[in-house]
Amino acid sequence: MDVLNLIGGRWAEGEGEEFADTNPARPAEVVARGRFASAGEVERAIGAAREAAPGWAATPHHARAAVLTGAADLVDASAGEWGAELAREEGKTLAEAVAEVRGAARILRYYASEADRESGEVFASPRPGENVLVVRKPIGVAGLITPFNFPIAIPAWKLGPALTYGNTVVWKPSSLVPLLAYRLAKALVEAGLPDGVLNLVYGEAEAGSAIVGHPGVDAVSFTGSTDVGRAVIARCGELGKPVQTEMGGKNASVVLADADLGHAAEQVCLGAFRSTGQKCTATSRLIVASQVADELLERVAERAARLVVGDPLSPEVEMGPLVSSAARERVSAGVRLAVGEGAKPLAGASPLEREGWFVPPTVLDLPGTGVDFWRTELFGPVVGAVRASSTEEAFGLANLSDHGLSAAVFTRDLGVALSAVERLEVGVLHVNSESAGTFPYVPFGGAKQSGFGPKEQGRAAREFYTRTVTVYLGAPA
Ligand code: NAP
Repeated sequence: MDVLNLIGGRWAEGEGEEFADTNPARPAEVVARGRFASAGEVERAIGAAREAAPGWAATPHHARAAVLTGAADLVDASAGEWGAELAREEGKTLAEAVAEVRGAARILRYYASEADRESGEVFASPRPGENVLVVRKPIGVAGLITPFNFPIAIPAWKLGPALTYGNTVVWKPSSLVPLLAYRLAKALVEAGLPDGVLNLVYGEAEAGSAIVGHPGVDAVSFTGSTDVGRAVIARCGELGKPVQTEMGGKNASVVLADADLGHAAEQVCLGAFRSTGQKCTATSRLIVASQVADELLERVAERAARLVVGDPLSPEVEMGPLVSSAARERVSAGVRLAVGEGAKPLAGASPLEREGWFVPPTVLDLPGTGVDFWRTELFGPVVGAVRASSTEEAFGLANLSDHGLSAAVFTRDLGVALSAVERLEVGVLHVNSESAGTFPYVPFGGAKQSGFGPKEQGRAAREFYTRTVTVYLGAPA
């Protein structure tokens, strides 16, 4: 399958380097091929987005929404086929991949439905005959930079609000997952998006930083690792450009002594191992009340050891490979380092001798919080556990991180659950469910080093993709 860049309404092969998108379960298998956009093409893409901006902003919201609904129909209709492609290019299981494609359609529909909701506010004025209106306008050209791990859902949760609120877009997807980006862009074009409103450019860091630094891009929305995100924030700060970044996590699940241990163990494993641990909200730290730690860890390790690892297209497979050889090297090195620092492997840990970028689901009993594993996001199927002698200590340990994306707490005590809401420094908190999982109609994003700027999803996205004008509307004299 050949994929193309989209610049000013024209599908272009790309003037940059050639690339091949390969299947992480069978690295010799090419899933898609293409060429990166050259610097000149990135420039032209931004120019096309600028040119299209006034027309798209002036298009009635309901007409913009109709494009999103049409695209959602196309995405839904192709969920089976594109889900298989997603599994082949990224490595998550077919069931998760199909669910992600359907999720993307749902996100587009949510943002289409924004056309039917209030689009501003009216305040009273102390002056006779006057009202104060707060109206919202698009910000202009949005630069969108997306990561590999949700190849269609994350782009949809940026493109949906960007387009519904009347912005035009230059989008650089992760170079690891070009095919699903192509599918989504094609669906939007087929649904009637006018030329230049969406521009898709393939490329790596250079293309990303060209978009971030370009004066023709009015705002930047980035999702990816914390290091790159912080560089994007710094550059936008220099340029005085609005920026939103969603970055890495080191998410904790806290299992308290009164929890249903069977349920908690199951949920911890879902949080740690689904999508091969490659979710920003995946569970990587496990904090267990000392009284139940041995039993809980035994259950988690037993479940991890039973997980069926293999080709994500096989229906019985529960965990696929990591996305790339570099990811496998990073995760394996992180596990070796943890073991070297005194962590005891309860499941996994040894490399899997098979073709593809596979690592085993791994459970580590950590010697304490001083190890590198506690601080560093590995972004793989590895969970490290420590024990806590009180709820207070458990919550303190959960907060002992520079990250603050998500957390899960398992307890039957409502008072304790409410104090978790009060105490835990995260943007997303699950009580009695795994740390991962989001609904498109509520805000999503992290605290501390995990997120910067307005949150994504739901109506929260409007804060980033629009600017307000406060109008003092007086009666004529
Ligand atoms: P990444 O390496 O930071 O890449 C993210 C995107 O940024 C890719 O499109 C990448 O391009 C591009 N990029 C790389 N260097 C850049 C630069 N200097 N300037 C501008 N763009 C640049 O992240 P990833 O490995 O794809 O994704 C995994 C990370 O994302 C994890 O840390 C995970 O926690 C985080 N994540 C966070 C959330 C959230 O909502 N908080 C959601 C999903 C993932 P290329 O890769 O093509 O070079």
